[in-house]
Amino acid sequence: MNFHIMTLFPDMVDNGLSESITGRAIKNNIIKVNTVNIRDFAQNKYGHVDDYTYGGGAGMLMQAEPVYLAYRSIIESNSLSERKPRVLYMTPQGIPFSQNMAVELSKEEDIVILCGHYEGIDERVLEMIVTDNVSIGDFVLTGGELPAMMIVDAVSRLVPGVLGKEDSAVYESFYDGLLEYPQYTRPEVFMGREVPGVLLSGHHKNIEKWRYEQSLQRTKERRPDLYEIYINKLKKEDETKKQNL
Ligand code: SAM
Repeated sequence: MNFHIMTLFPDMVDNGLSESITGRAIKNNIIKVNTVNIRDFAQNKYGHVDDYTYGGGAGMLMQAEPVYLAYRSIIESNSLSERKPRVLYMTPQGIPFSQNMAVELSKEEDIVILCGHYEGIDERVLEMIVTDNVSIGDFVLTGGELPAMMIVDAVSRLVPGVLGKEDSAVYESFYDGLLEYPQYTRPEVFMGREVPGVLLSGHHKNIEKWRYEQSLQRTKERRPDLYEIYINKLKKEDETKKQNL
């Protein structure tokens, strides 16, 4: 899977993703991270890619042309004109990123991610190239690099071969709409706190049941919004089953 990241700070992205699991996936050629420096496409000898906003207002805006040229270079040098890739613009004005979105994106072969900086990017080029506006939360960061790295991380770990065990991602939070159950490792007793007995029993059915109950309880306490969706889904499935009897 190929991630093409358009940014003014390629080192930030390359360095951030070169460690740990994403770093190993890059080394093993399971994912490719191709950072493209938008500044290389500046149309002046000073390398400026931003300017004042029309109509006034604080801050500078990234200009349309360097962004457009950087995008074209990705499309052309990777022969992507036929199968137009999705182009994700990192913006606080986008749809909130979620595990469902990560699952959907993990099926793509190429994804282009556009990182803004300063006050953002000239709207015209966004209209021309962006397919998805994506936010990582209701707060404003200085740039789109951290959001882009988060998306690469969340999507990559769903790509076969990136995580050690294929099912590692299956039992995690959000997989089935619930948060994950609490987990424990050695020692059995830590500062007087014992690992729940059922986990030491070797009784797989009971362990599964305990974990499911813990997931339910944890989701109810910490994310009542998700809990409600989950319970309503169960109720609907139940009604459909009864109707089909
Ligand atoms: N003026 C913009 C606004 O009010 O919507 C905010 C610009 S922000 C200072 C600079 C860049 O950081 C954005 O273009 C975007 O790429 C990135 N960014 C900031 N917050 C973000 C968020 N919550 N999710 C995704 N990207 C974000």
